[in-house]
Order: sequence, then structure tokens, then C-alpha cells
Amino acid sequence: MTKVYYDSDADLGLLKGKKVGVIGYGSQGHAHALNLKDSGVDVAVGLYPGSPSAEKARAAGLKVGSVDDVARDCDVIMLLVPDQVQRQVYEEHIAPHLERGKTLMFAHGFNIHFNQIAPPKGIDVSMIAPKAPGHLMRRVFTQGAGVPALVAVHQDASESALQMALAYGKGVGSTRAGILQTTFHEETETDLFGEQVILCGGITALIKTAYETLVEAGYQPESAYFETFHELKLIVDLLYEGGMEYMRYSISDTAEYGDYTRGPRVIGEQVRAEMRKILGEIQSGQFASEWIAENQAGRPRFLALRRINAQHPIESVGKEMRGMMAWLQGGNQR
Ligand code: NAD
Ligand code: MG
Repeated sequence: MTKVYYDSDADLGLLKGKKVGVIGYGSQGHAHALNLKDSGVDVAVGLYPGSPSAEKARAAGLKVGSVDDVARDCDVIMLLVPDQVQRQVYEEHIAPHLERGKTLMFAHGFNIHFNQIAPPKGIDVSMIAPKAPGHLMRRVFTQGAGVPALVAVHQDASESALQMALAYGKGVGSTRAGILQTTFHEETETDLFGEQVILCGGITALIKTAYETLVEAGYQPESAYFETFHELKLIVDLLYEGGMEYMRYSISDTAEYGDYTRGPRVIGEQVRAEMRKILGEIQSGQFASEWIAENQAGRPRFLALRRINAQHPIESVGKEMRGMMAWLQGGNQR
């Protein structure tokens, strides 16, 4: 049985008298640091010199220092800089300060699982991976709830690494919702798979292909946008709230019949075969090597793909359409 931990399974007292350092103040970093502070934990934020986040963190009442200072002073160090810079930040500014008895934590297992970071024996290495973007995590916490998370232990020098990770998880609010036990191996591979085949890659490719099919057949781009993109959220909300049956209860019988008979034709055996192949590339480390090499080369392919994808007509049509919907202005202001 999958083990899930709640408030009563975690003891915030384990963090009493300990200093927690959150390295990075981005999406995850700000939410972890502020939630911990509100939970009464002694927290400091570690940032690189000149980081624009320093003012924000100070204004929010947090202690701020260099990554070296925070790593030196703190007993528990949570690494929340982007995965592709973690190795360098770790080697230059954190590793020198990892004395026995300290705890190094992650919110995603990539660098440990793919051997980019090899911490010394004698310290605990664990993970609290909230299953939500940081801004949602912070908002939900201030409303008195928490977002679910995963917990994993990679190295248990103290023989209390799990309890310490759960105390951290309680501090950020996640035991309010539930923290599921996993491993660095499982979290890393399933996280990459999910974002590649469905959450990010699969869904955007599906939307673009459907949109292009309608536009190519002569339908108005605006109609195509509404049908293949805008309405997606309404459906996902129903799925999220009540599962597939609930979503199907809300749609028309015509839509439900089309769903059963056409869906499996769109996502058929070819897609299943490709998903298995993609999972294989994750498991073998091929994807990780490719992404690490891409970063080392200055990200030419990544930046070109970002540019090309931003120029897809669905983005300009979408921007115009969202402009009609006064309640949606946030996303256009980036
Ligand atoms: P982010 O890009 O939002 O923030 C990174 C922070 O690190 C920023 O404050 C940035 O200024 C700082 N930074 C960048 N380069 C640095 C350097 N060289 N030295 C010091 N600081 C530097 O990152 P994020 O999305 O919060 O991701 C952090 C970790 O959390 C990653 O391991 C990620 O996989 C994990 N995670 C993210 C999410 C999410 O929804 N964003 C969810 C779960 C887990
Ligand atoms: Mg993820």
C-alpha cells in the first residue's frame, strides 16, 4: 500500500533550534520560504549576488544572504534553483559547507537520480516535492490548506531523514493535504514522463494539431481557438473536480458518444508505442544526457524551439481572444 503522511505523522518540533536555508526565490523558493516562516521555522533565503529577488524576499520579512553564507549557517538546505544550474550552484557554493549531520533537500530528483550531484556520506539527502506550482502552493497555504507533495529519502545518515523531511513538509503545509512516499527514482522518471507526454508536451501538441486541422479546412481561426483551446479548461476543471464520469455527466450525449468512439482513434496504438519509447529514453538516461549537453552548449536548440513555438498563429489568435475576456488579463501581461 502507498504510504501517505498527514499532520499527525509529522513533528514540526524537529525543526526547533535548527536553521533552514532555502536556496533560490523563484516559483518554489518563495512559497517554501514564506510558508516555513509562517510555520515558525527559522528560515533564510540564499541568493546569488545581485539577484533581483533579494529585495522581494527582504520586503516579505525574510532573512537573505549569499548562497555560501546560508549553506554555511543552516542545518537544512533546500535547493530550489533551476534544475539545470543546480550542479554548478551545489559544487561552488553548497558542497564546501556540507558538514556531517546536515540535511540537503530537493523538490525534484533529477540531479540526484542522474548523478549530477553526489553528496558526501554523513549527511541526509531527502525530497519534498510539492505537486503544484509555487504560487498556488503559497496561496493555498495562506487560505489554511496545503498542496499535496511527495517525500523521498536518498541518504539517511542520521536515521531520521524521513522524519526531518516530513517536518519540512509540514512546515510548507503539505501534510495538511497529504504527503505520499516515493523514491528519487520514481519521482524523477514519472515527473519527466508526465510533463513530456501529457501535461506539457502531449497537451500542447494535441491542441496545435486540432487547431491546424480546422484552420486548414477553412474554418475561422477564432472558432478553431474556442473549440480546441479555450474550452479545454472547462473540461479539465470537471475532470479535476469529479473524474471522467462527472465530466461526461456534464456534457451532451452527443459529445459523450463522440468521446468514446473517436478518442481512442486519436490516441491509438501509435501513441502508446511512442509513449513507451519516450519512457525508455527517460529510464536509460538518454533524455537527461541530451538536456544536460544542450545546457552545456548554451541551449541553442532549446532557445530556437522556444522562439518558433511562440510564433505559432494559435498564440496571436489566442491573445486576441483572451483580450475579449476581461477576467483573463493576467496571462497576457508577462
Ligand atoms: P525558478 O526558475 O522559478 O526559480 C529559480 C530561482 O533560482 C530564481 O530565484 C533564480 O533567480 C534563482 N537562480 C537562478 N540561477 C541561479 C544561480 N546560478 N545561483 C543562485 N540562484 C539562481 O525555479 P522553480 O520552478 O522554483 O524550480 C526549483 C526546483 O523546484 C526545481 O528543482 C524544480 O524541478 C522544482 N519544482 C518546481 C515546480 C514548479 O512548479 N515550478 C514544482 C515542483 C518542483
Ligand atoms: Mg512535475
